[in-house]
Amino acid sequence: MPLKLNVEITSPMTPDDHELLSGVSVMLLAIANHELAAARFPEAFGDNEPEEPVAPCGLEDDAGSTCVSKRGHVGRHKFRPVSSEAPTTLVN
Ligand SMILES: [Zn+2]
Repeated sequence: MPLKLNVEITSPMTPDDHELLSGVSVMLLAIANHELAAARFPEAFGDNEPEEPVAPCGLEDDAGSTCVSKRGHVGRHKFRPVSSEAPTTLVN
């Protein structure tokens, strides 16, 4: 989120100015902490693209079972019988 702050302070300051400056200071500290935390831990701030659903390998064996591993998986296929009643769960 882009943010632009313009703060102008003139002296002598009134009691209201002191209170306003104190509030702005707290706000700046909160923004700085948020920006620092977002830079260090981007995964915690929802800046990542949502994960797309993983497509299954889908290879069928001679018995009509389908591989339930993720598409592009490494290693052996994990064949499971195709069921129309329960959704297939992907395995690694
Ligand atoms: Zn497979």
